Amino acid sequence: MVVPKSHPRYESLRKRELILDGIRDGLVAEAGAIAHGRGEAFDYMMGEKTLPSAQIASIAAAALLVQAERPVISVNGNTAVLAAPWIIQLSELLNAPLEINLFYRTDDRIRKLTQFLEDRGAKNILGAKPDREIPGIDHARALCCDEGIYSADVILVPLEDGDRAKALVDMGKKTIVVDLNPLSRSSRTATITLVDELTRAIPLLIENVKAQMDDPDLRILTDFDNLENMGAAVREMSLFLSDAL
Ligand code: ATP
Ligand code: MG
Repeated sequence: MVVPKSHPRYESLRKRELILDGIRDGLVAEAGAIAHGRGEAFDYMMGEKTLPSAQIASIAAAALLVQAERPVISVNGNTAVLAAPWIIQLSELLNAPLEINLFYRTDDRIRKLTQFLEDRGAKNILGAKPDREIPGIDHARALCCDEGIYSADVILVPLEDGDRAKALVDMGKKTIVVDLNPLSRSSRTATITLVDELTRAIPLLIENVKAQMDDPDLRILTDFDNLENMGAAVREMSLFLSDAL
């Protein structure tokens, strides 16, 4: 389908196409389309714009990533097809590996995602040869790499499922979750939650990481309260909704 750029829902339709192409190419599990749809509904409820609370959370997330000793970026199918150029750029900026980490794990999908990311210039990709397990979750979903998620201190986990997001926190990791749903378990268990759409959240995070590298602000990390910030996100969404009609 060719959607003209002038279409009012161009961006939204383009993202749907990326997810559907990803399913056809074996990069995204079918359930990825449902997860995407849930995200779209929440995005509608914030006017498809980054909320002020997410701008603050993004600065805190950048500060956390810049001071991390072993940052890792976890990548699933949706994240790869929607945001490959930006996660690759972030991986280089932070010298952080991209670890492919799938809910519906198959070796075929891992291979295809590795190739997809390599074709777009990614150099530091893990996930094909997992040698560790995240404690407390069942085997297939627990697999991870010693050099990556297992030994990381800070993990960016865009679109992570709630169980695994919690298991990582239980391991003592600091996590940054990107999730449009402020009520999801992933959002509520993260160290820092970016209640924002991935393709807005990651470019903004890159800008904030660059700014923090030039001029680090460590105070923001002590001042930032994630639950309070998510409360602000919900209030901002409610305000948007009550003014919408
Ligand atoms: P829980 O965290 O409570 O276990 P879940 O993980 O089961 O919830 P899923 O539907 O599996 O929920 O996860 C998808 C989540 O990702 C949804 O909460 C949705 O809002 C969010 N999401 C989907 N696409 C995007 C996107 N492009 N940007 C940001 N968030 C997104
Ligand atoms: Mg979730």
